Amino acid sequence: MRIVLLGPPGSGKGTQASMLVEQMGIPHISTGALLRNAAKRGTALGLQAKAITDKGELVPDDIMSDMIEERLSRDDVANGFILDGYPRNLAQARSLDAMLERLNMPADEAIHIDIDPEELIKRIAKRAKEEGRTDDAVATVRNRMRVYAEQTAPVADYYAERGLLTQVLGDGPKEEISQRILSVLNTQAATA
Ligand code: AMP
Repeated sequence: MRIVLLGPPGSGKGTQASMLVEQMGIPHISTGALLRNAAKRGTALGLQAKAITDKGELVPDDIMSDMIEERLSRDDVANGFILDGYPRNLAQARSLDAMLERLNMPADEAIHIDIDPEELIKRIAKRAKEEGRTDDAVATVRNRMRVYAEQTAPVADYYAERGLLTQVLGDGPKEEISQRILSVLNTQAATA
């Protein structure tokens, strides 16, 4: 199953994706993690991207599109994947659609984790402390929220218009949220 996971920063997308990997045995593809790895390795692209992610802005679409195409060309996506953090704007959503069409593996389902913004600010501040993520500094968090509202929120509408979107309530324990997502995916698999 090919799944696009959507939700604001701090909504638990990464955690949910990891839990789904265990249940479904398909790879978790996080563009944020790919960028952080590139920065850690000190590649030119990684360092260039870090300056952008540290401000909470989006890395340019062409860089992201190359990165995701390279990742989606590997053999381990044959049985599906969970995309986390991509697409992040409408141009990326259209480019992903075209790419998946070309690779003959269109998306099956988009899930949007729906959560109260106040809850998010609390979660992100906690995660920043635990992980020491420089892009989680408070000013950056505010900017990431603004970027999300302006650029990423329309992506959920994009999938809704194509009949692929399901909203999942993102509050409560992570196990409960995971159960909600799995039940959506089971229903989708049963009707496919
Ligand atoms: P994430 O771990 O998904 O929250 O991503 C961390 C940061 O990486 C984001 O705030 C962006 O700066 C950058 N990033 C991740 N995915 C994308 C993307 N699809 N397009 C542009 N920038 C991205």
